[in-house]
Amino acid sequence: MITVFDDIQRLHNPPSFIVAGKAQPIPERPERIDILLEGVKSSGGVVVAPKSVGNETLSLVHDTRYLAFMDGLWQRWHRQPNAAEYPAPNIHALGRPSLAPVGYPDSVVGQCGYHLGDGSCPFMDKTWDAAKASAASAVHAARLIRDGERFVYALCRPPGHHAASDVAAGFCYINNSALAAEVLNRAGRRVAILDIDVHHGNGTEAIFYDRADVLTVSIHADPRRFYPFFWGYAEETGRGEGEGFNLNLPLPRGTRIDAYRTALAQALRRVGEFGPEILVVAAGLDISIDDPFQGFAIETKDFAVIGRDIADLKLPLLVVQEGGYPSPSLGANLASLLEGLRA
Ligand code: ZN
Repeated sequence: MITVFDDIQRLHNPPSFIVAGKAQPIPERPERIDILLEGVKSSGGVVVAPKSVGNETLSLVHDTRYLAFMDGLWQRWHRQPNAAEYPAPNIHALGRPSLAPVGYPDSVVGQCGYHLGDGSCPFMDKTWDAAKASAASAVHAARLIRDGERFVYALCRPPGHHAASDVAAGFCYINNSALAAEVLNRAGRRVAILDIDVHHGNGTEAIFYDRADVLTVSIHADPRRFYPFFWGYAEETGRGEGEGFNLNLPLPRGTRIDAYRTALAQALRRVGEFGPEILVVAAGLDISIDDPFQGFAIETKDFAVIGRDIADLKLPLLVVQEGGYPSPSLGANLASLLEGLRA
């Protein structure tokens, strides 16, 4: 197994995010990297740094206006008199058509309301550099798979699956899993994405929602009482040509391995029917019983079971790190998942 990771990914280090209206310590911290690298160690293999990626690659799944906004955000924000330290909108562009030719403001605070989706995407001076390095890890991993590797782990942090084409949200700025899948798709490979993060992969769903060429499947905590609240329902099955190519499997809070495996079997059957050549696993470890988000009750040994079930597809696997936050078992959970996937 090859692990792809860049030290630049450490530079995003925001102090807080907004929960229940309050600034609270953010669990998506650089120390996750050291915990996850510790988990990788037991699986062996090399750790390589990716080549950097530019906007022409990022624009495979992101709006060019969004990329330009992110490139200039820190400088433009701090040219405003009396601005807070971190960018934040005055108004959110609710219900706007995603690519409307009009209604896109020139003002940086207006654009923040267009592109910053929630209180969980704090933006600092090095945030965009770290996000691009995280995306580069996913792209590099995709190219290794394209060139014949069968099992690559992209240690992507910050994560990506809540980022839509033109919106950052939920600790995510660039959709690493979607980007990796699209790189492979453009190389002529048939790709499916299986998202096992405890939160619905709403950004990934949005990016591929109208398309039949990339299958998206997500198993997650029921959004009726869990972030991202407005997406992740079973009724979301795709649109137009994409109808039938998005599968959401929401499960109750507190789900344990037996019920989880039933949903996983359904997910894997759908992946099998689709017949991909490569599976991208959007690997959120926050399904753990120890995770601070307390969505599911998956134990360390269960991660190996999940990994083995996925490995039974006998497909090349591109594992992209999504969520999973500091807890006593985070590193061991990754080690267990990778051990199962390698089976
Ligand atoms: Zn998550």
